[in-house]
Amino acid sequence: MILVFGGAGYIGSHSVKHLLENGYDCVVADNLVYGHKDAVLVKNFEKVDLKDKDGLDKLFKKYKIDTVIHFAAYAYVGESVVNPQKYYQNNVIGTLNLLDTMIANNVKKIVFSSTCAVYGNPEYTPIDEKHPQNPISPYGQSKLMIEKIMADYQKAYNLKYIALRYFNASGACDNAKIGESHNPETHLIPLVLKAIKGDIKNITVFGTDYDNFDGTCIRDYIHVEDLALAHRLALEKLDEFNGYINLGTGIGTSVKEIIKTAEKVTGKKCPVIYGDRRAGDPPKLFANNDMAKDVLGWEIKFNKIEDILKSAWEWEKNKLF
Ligand code: UDP
Repeated sequence: MILVFGGAGYIGSHSVKHLLENGYDCVVADNLVYGHKDAVLVKNFEKVDLKDKDGLDKLFKKYKIDTVIHFAAYAYVGESVVNPQKYYQNNVIGTLNLLDTMIANNVKKIVFSSTCAVYGNPEYTPIDEKHPQNPISPYGQSKLMIEKIMADYQKAYNLKYIALRYFNASGACDNAKIGESHNPETHLIPLVLKAIKGDIKNITVFGTDYDNFDGTCIRDYIHVEDLALAHRLALEKLDEFNGYINLGTGIGTSVKEIIKTAEKVTGKKCPVIYGDRRAGDPPKLFANNDMAKDVLGWEIKFNKIEDILKSAWEWEKNKLF
């Protein structure tokens, strides 16, 4: 059985869906602080917090777990700068608790949610896995720390691990039963769609003076179903490969392009305000995804931003939570 920790969250719930569709048996654990009970797609659900060592141990005693996929983390970059304690306590100490409980219960396989934030300000693009790691936020640091801990645990305890470094997760599954729902919402695509829907007054574009073709930031938007697929492929490769893998499309899209495409997809105008740069935003991030293709045999379904926005819009129109 696969333990999906953080399986009530955005990427976790889509991964559970994909695992179920591919014949895997899953138990979901989540503290439901940011996750949604409605996004839990399996009967086996345990409300557990990573800080609760006894609760973790009970979980491993109750279910016959052979592999863990670990999504549970706080992931607001800005918040991590003002409240690093919360991030180091939960993301680092919490994950250590999970890893140590795994080892104590002789479970030695993990796929871990990491992030392109481990690279910090890019020295070159596309970013490959050899790019220097200089995170500029406690959030990015917390993920990098875990990557390093897992590498040490591999050597000492034979822990098998793959850390997947996501670029910008986006979109929703095609039946629109689950999708992106953060509270507070800070991400570009859902905010643009909310502005189009009229749920918020407008979207503010953070900076128009970047040294990019249209002056706005460039990101690599990767569909959540493609991420889900990569998690399954990774867990099937744990016996052969351990290390870090980028998950992005390899395509950079600007903020203005996102807005323009959202307007095209929805047929509606997006109310826009042009504002100042947001602190800590690198001008341009996109992935070299050769390793994911070579090591995992990963093939992306969504390589057009228009299709990603269509699926995000289907969810945003009919959101269930
Ligand atoms: N962004 C923006 N307005 C917003 C939210 C985001 O212009 O209200 C920009 C942000 O500066 C970045 C891009 O959209 O360049 C993606 O931001 P998001 O927060 O979605 O993801 P991040 O890249 O920070 O992980």
